[in-house]
Order: sequence, then C-alpha cells, then structure tokens
Amino acid sequence: MLLSNMAVNPKQRKAIDEERMASLVAFTARSLKTKAPVPFGASIYNTTDGTMLLQALNAVSKEFDPSSHAEVRAIRLATKKLKKLSLKGYTLYTTCEPCPMCMSTALWAGLDRVVYGATIEDADKHCQQIYIPATEIVTRSDMRCKVEGPVLRAECYTLFTDPTMLRAFGPRAKRKLK
Ligand SMILES: [Zn+2]
Repeated sequence: MLLSNMAVNPKQRKAIDEERMASLVAFTARSLKTKAPVPFGASIYNTTDGTMLLQALNAVSKEFDPSSHAEVRAIRLATKKLKKLSLKGYTLYTTCEPCPMCMSTALWAGLDRVVYGATIEDADKHCQQIYIPATEIVTRSDMRCKVEGPVLRAECYTLFTDPTMLRAFGPRAKRKLK
C-alpha cells in the first residue's frame, strides 16, 4: 500500500502504520537467523509520498559502538543519503520506544513523526533501559515531533521473546532501585 500520509483519515493512517510496522518486524526478525540477532529495527518513510527511504538495525555489538541504536543509525544513514541535515518531511518507525538518545536525535533531525512498537517497559524485561518516556523528551524541548505508539506492540515484542534473542540477552540482572 503506497499511500500519502497527508490526505488520509485516522483509520487509514492506523492501517498504514501497522503495515509499515509489520514490514519492519519482518526485516528485524531476519537478524534472528544471523550471528548478530537484535530485536531493534527502524525504518524511515517520506511522510508525503509514503516511499520508504531505508531500514536499519541496531549495530551496537557489530560496530563496537554504544550509540549504534537502530533509530540513530537510520537517521545517520538517511541524512547522509539525502545529503541534508533535516529530516523534516519524514517519519521514523521503530520496533521499540526510542531511548532518550534516539528520541533526542529524532528531534535534532526534525523528523515529523516517530511511531514505535514495543515499549520501554517491554524492553526492560530483557535489557538495560533508561526510564524516560520518548514523549517526555519532546515535552522538555522546544522542537516538535509527534510520537505515536504502541503500534503492533505484541508483534514487536515477539522479537524480544524469540528463543534466539532470549539466549543472546541472557538473564536480566536488575539494578536494585533504592
Ligand atoms: Zn536508543
């Protein structure tokens, strides 16, 4: 379905978001068959004409880079591809609610909208998290970006609970909250 996001009603928009998220889940799930399985994937679409610019995976382990989250990688690849600093006119999809670093990068990039699947609470069951909701990062800035989710939360969460991923995560050692 190649539809513009501009002239669609909320029901159509929901269907488009779900279709793009399902496609992102499928893309991310392919990593589960590789030696570097990750549950985190991101894609960027042109908000107006609905074309997909690119998809990216988390590559923290692969690149020995703690900042190589899927969203940051997608944004870096997109601005380089477009040779532009601004991603105004683009929408980012991510299988998990963006962490503060990723949401801040989305704001600096000027993305129109960020749509996420699983939540920080979901991811927290398996790996370390920073407990600041993506919407709070937006609220505390003078930049604007619509944050919407969860979309296909259950489907996105299956990426975390896949046996391959559970083995890769290992047991989750929780910090004791004082
Ligand atoms: Zn992140």
